[in-house]
Amino acid sequence: MAKRDFYEVLGVPKGSDDAALKSAYRKLAMQYHPDRNPGNDEAEHKFKEISEAYDTLKDPQKRAAYDRFGHAAFEQGGGRGPAGFGPEFSSSMSDIFEDIFGDFMGGGGGGRGRGGQSRLRGSDLRYNLEISLDEAFTGQTVDIDVPTLAACDTCEGTGAKPGTGMSTCRHCNGQGKVRAAQGFFTIERTCPVCNGRGQILEQPCTDCGGQGRRQQNRTLSVDIPKGIEDGTRIRLANEGEAGLRGGPPGDLYIFISLKPHDLFHRDGADLYARVPIAMTTAALGGEFEVPTLDAARARVKVSPGTQPGQRVRLKGKGMPILRSKDFGDLYVQLDVETPQSLTKRQRELLEEFDRESTQDNSPTSDGFFDKLKKMFEG
Ligand code: ZN
Ligand code: ZN
Repeated sequence: MAKRDFYEVLGVPKGSDDAALKSAYRKLAMQYHPDRNPGNDEAEHKFKEISEAYDTLKDPQKRAAYDRFGHAAFEQGGGRGPAGFGPEFSSSMSDIFEDIFGDFMGGGGGGRGRGGQSRLRGSDLRYNLEISLDEAFTGQTVDIDVPTLAACDTCEGTGAKPGTGMSTCRHCNGQGKVRAAQGFFTIERTCPVCNGRGQILEQPCTDCGGQGRRQQNRTLSVDIPKGIEDGTRIRLANEGEAGLRGGPPGDLYIFISLKPHDLFHRDGADLYARVPIAMTTAALGGEFEVPTLDAARARVKVSPGTQPGQRVRLKGKGMPILRSKDFGDLYVQLDVETPQSLTKRQRELLEEFDRESTQDNSPTSDGFFDKLKKMFEG
């Protein structure tokens, strides 16, 4: 049977202080003490488990070793059997100590439900990358720094101290699987000691504590394709955290967000811009230029008699369409501006203009006043 985590045995979180450990131990020891449970094998087993866990965790040195290496910590130091056990138990205990190696704490992540191997897989990482609309337009290769767990150079990711190797897991005799009787059934499951590999470390690498990976900054190049949309997720397979002791790495996901642009608003492949034009330009017609994202300029034609809010469509001047050679359109909305603080001469001209105005000059208001007239006449 695999050995349970000492903190789990005592039912306390990993960071618990001495007082919490002691009180948890006392409570459980009282409950499962053999004197209180005569002839109960399960209680006896529990009592031994509790005592062993407390014995280790109450000693700061042993606890530190356990936190780092798990049960493996006690294999090499001669595995002094915890006090208070009879000779019979001690011998079986040392067997267990010898069997168990490599059951490191906090291993893995992932939890892909693919048996023991999943515990060795590195975690997936998320990286948020903000780019400008110009970068989304042209496409870019962006270098990013990712703080991650990368394979340890010293042991080349194996977790084994250089010069040492792996030995056959004795818990499962190298099978990677263990069988346990449960009632009438025999259940086969992944060996919890070697995580199904059938092999365990002889000695952990001192630089990475046997994990085979270390905290490092990695620089990666990310290809941003032309026309990428806000909220796109780019997956870089196998660029996540390194696996535990040479296990498979996780993936890196780059989440793209686009900074707002001063001039353009984007909707899919189309771009929208609002441009103010003078009242006279709207009336007389004209032309002007707008900058475009391809670092060029586009001509916008204003036809005579343009109304406020009217849009001009510039075909193909929008964003590139992902994985295609086509482009969206640019829509320029014309905001007609009414002049302020007129000079005396301008006022005179406008007044004269007003006197000259006819019905045909204002198509919208003519229609409107027709409706109004009908309402008044009822
Ligand atoms: Zn290492
Ligand atoms: Zn095993």
